[in-house]
Amino acid sequence: MIDEMSSSRTDAPCGWQILNDPRRNLGGAFTDQEREEHGLVGLFPDAVESMDTQLARARMQCAEQSSDLAKYVFLSALQDRQERLFYALLRSDFERYMPIVYTPTVGEACQKFGHILRRPKGMYLSLRQKGRLAQVLRNWPIEDVRFIVVTDGERILGLGDQGVCGMGIPVGKLALYTACAGVPPEVTLPIALDLGTNNQAFLADPLYPGLRQPRVDGEAMAEFIDEFVDAVQEVFPNCCIQFEDFTNKNAIPLLERYRDRVCCFNDDIQGTASVAVAGLFGACRLSQMAMKDQRLLFLGAGNAGVGIADLFVKHLTSQGVPVAEAVAQCWFVNSRGLVHAGMPRLPEYLTRYAHSLAGLTIPPSAPSGADSPMTQLLDCVETIRPTGIIGVSTVASAFSEPVIRAMARLNTRPIVFPLSNPTSKSECTADEAIRWSDGRAIIATGSPFPELSFGGKRFVPGQGNNVYIYPAVGLAIYATKAQRVTDEMFLCAAESLARETSEADLSVGLIYPPIESIHETSVRVAIEVARFVFDAGLAREDRPSDIAAFVRAHVYDPAF
Ligand code: NAD
Repeated sequence: MIDEMSSSRTDAPCGWQILNDPRRNLGGAFTDQEREEHGLVGLFPDAVESMDTQLARARMQCAEQSSDLAKYVFLSALQDRQERLFYALLRSDFERYMPIVYTPTVGEACQKFGHILRRPKGMYLSLRQKGRLAQVLRNWPIEDVRFIVVTDGERILGLGDQGVCGMGIPVGKLALYTACAGVPPEVTLPIALDLGTNNQAFLADPLYPGLRQPRVDGEAMAEFIDEFVDAVQEVFPNCCIQFEDFTNKNAIPLLERYRDRVCCFNDDIQGTASVAVAGLFGACRLSQMAMKDQRLLFLGAGNAGVGIADLFVKHLTSQGVPVAEAVAQCWFVNSRGLVHAGMPRLPEYLTRYAHSLAGLTIPPSAPSGADSPMTQLLDCVETIRPTGIIGVSTVASAFSEPVIRAMARLNTRPIVFPLSNPTSKSECTADEAIRWSDGRAIIATGSPFPELSFGGKRFVPGQGNNVYIYPAVGLAIYATKAQRVTDEMFLCAAESLARETSEADLSVGLIYPPIESIHETSVRVAIEVARFVFDAGLAREDRPSDIAAFVRAHVYDPAF
């Protein structure tokens, strides 16, 4: 029962409310004058503290936490207490804090969400609210929400069904919209759609905080999501919806259903594609090869793999390569083996990459009755002879020593992108890719790996992290009030990001700009995407004379 706080003073000034509002609470930074004006005198110790002092304290407190998960909980509490300090801390050291608020630690945070839960963030829309989602959305206190990241928790990173505990992902992604690109936090809203869960451990756990029933799918799911999308249009008409961590059988159809109707995108598909294609541009600079000469073999034929292939094809066709030729450069291996034209039960989105095997010499590796004549990745590499292998399978160690040695034999500079997250699912480590290729592999990893040396040379593994893309695209959408989000915007982001990689970065094998500079990188990429949005006639804002200044004027600055 909600007590009306009958014992509280009605004549107290608003200082206490400021202290308890994370958006307005500046900790000890309030000046003497502000303390007098807002009734804050006596609510803080005497010293007026600079942001640097408070950052030093927060840094020290975070470092004292005993595990990455404890650091996650600490940072989450800081966000709930003092939002500006939280963002200033993230921005002060991305390399240190990003792996905590996002992958890989966020994976563990989702798995243990029901146990570490303190103050819930964002909104939880469960099947029990079906029929009144618009009314429920109005419980959110901010009127002009501009970004919703929404998940149904069914495929969280490579960790499977996390039910409502998948909320860690929208929360973490939106924190990075703000930290990296400067999208103001007040316009963002993380949402978990609770459609039940098939995670038996969760259903048996008394601390699981979601709907305690098996997950619904099919028609019932479609109706619920339709109502949700309509409700967002009604309550937050300028909002962009980012679909996140839906399972692949739903993600692609959902994107197809809504992309031309409302302002939305799917980061697992389009953001991943963009950062991977940016990595391929960087790889081409290192290997002195053209994009059109790359032949890619994808391990994993889900959201990420198909998204990357589609954007790669879009780039090649924009350069005049016929579609059929571009598509023929992409091959897929799924859990049943090499995808080919005769493979049964192929999902619609994969059929264009199901090539004929005529003319290829097929090694006799597959068991009889298999759906594919090639079930071993090594055989696929030897037969297809790719210039790059892209791991989006969630199969740890799938890029084995023989696979990478084969890539290194076939290519002077083999492209090896083990993109699966979290670290425990990575197809290989950065160190393995470099060692087994005698230092010649061009790598991008999904999770962060430390820099290393081989043969007396320093290597800095680039993280093919979507965070290089979606916050920047988000800032452009926010500033321009884009009506729709198109693949071409993601291609523009990939090209702009690739231009941000310097020769010095490339000299240590780094095909992305350093993560420390991600804020400025994101803003610069956002400026290019915003320019594209204006040129394409997709903006709802009038075109300004100086697009760079216009975008920069929208950037949130946590300084106080
Ligand atoms: P998904 O579930 O849509 O696809 C996974 C695919 O892997 C499925 O097609 C599945 O059939 C296939 N697969 C499973 N076992 C396999 C096996 N033994 N051999 C070959 N293929 C197998 O997931 P997704 O969204 O495509 O993501 C895949 C992975 O990529 C996840 O770990 C995710 O975290 C990671 N990812 C990384 C980035 C990034 O680093 N930028 C971005 C997006 C996704």
